[in-house]
Amino acid sequence: MGDRVLVLNAGGTIGMVGTPHGYAPVPGALGPYLDWIVEMSRGELPPIDFVELDPPIDSANATPESWGEIARILFERRADHPGFVVLHGTDTMAYTSSALSFLLPSFGKPVVVTGAQIPIARTRSDGRQNFIGALEVAVQPAVPEVTLLFGEVLLRGNRAMKVDASGLDAFDSPRFPPLAEIGMDIVVNHALVRAADGVPGLTAGTLANVAAVRLFPGFSASILANICAPPLQGLVIEAYGAGNGPSEDLQFLAAIEAATSRGVVVVVVTQCVRGSVQPGVYATGSALARAGAVPGLDMTSEAALTKLAVLLGQGLSTDTVRQMMQDDIAGELTP
Ligand code: ASP
Repeated sequence: MGDRVLVLNAGGTIGMVGTPHGYAPVPGALGPYLDWIVEMSRGELPPIDFVELDPPIDSANATPESWGEIARILFERRADHPGFVVLHGTDTMAYTSSALSFLLPSFGKPVVVTGAQIPIARTRSDGRQNFIGALEVAVQPAVPEVTLLFGEVLLRGNRAMKVDASGLDAFDSPRFPPLAEIGMDIVVNHALVRAADGVPGLTAGTLANVAAVRLFPGFSASILANICAPPLQGLVIEAYGAGNGPSEDLQFLAAIEAATSRGVVVVVVTQCVRGSVQPGVYATGSALARAGAVPGLDMTSEAALTKLAVLLGQGLSTDTVRQMMQDDIAGELTP
């Protein structure tokens, strides 16, 4: 293994260029800036190898195939590098960092996903600092898991959410403390970092058909039933508070029941920013459970959706997936 960090550009604002329609990714535009930053560091930063998705994308165009492609590249080059930086758009970065944590079990090396709110070619870009921080985390073995670095924090990838559409501290993990603070020094909270154990793998299989819906007063049962029709295999319900839903809407509950008896795995997370689903605290939450939904505890919607897609895509039995959705498999939930 050499000492070169692999930098994979998936796209996003960090490498974008202005066009008449707004910022858009341009193949080949980002690499020279990164080379220049590394060169100017006069050895303070590790050397890099640079690869790019063909073509780099605005992450609003990301698909489960994009997650699979990124995971495949990282897995195939795992032995060749001490660590990995994935440059990615911020819009769906939390989905990708969650998905990678499930697609690359026991990876055992740092995978740092980062990007920028302002293109690196612009004077006030945050991309330079984020890239430098990510390289510094990726080259040392202290945090051997999939993380998301942005602004002043290093977050567990499957705990992160985008919380700001324009601010430079755009990500947070409100239900789990940062794994490191990125200040004058990079201060790692070692007690929170997951140990590297197990045999590294690349989860095989295509990703399943899943969806996420947010409850709101008046959500029609027939719309829910339509969403739950084939080919849906898994559904994340972003429920109220501690995991509550409309227990008096019997048609709504019947739609959940019909879906679960057809083998759809229905998982409840909270639409609150902080806290967790607490099974059994309210009768309105118990009704969802009786209809067959399983509690997603303190998982983010992004983590629940990608975990469901990965697990169901492996062809595991419905009962196994229902159980695993409540188990901690990559640090995504607090049991
Ligand atoms: N639309 C961009 C993207 O997600 C936003 C960004 O990178 O900040 O690719």
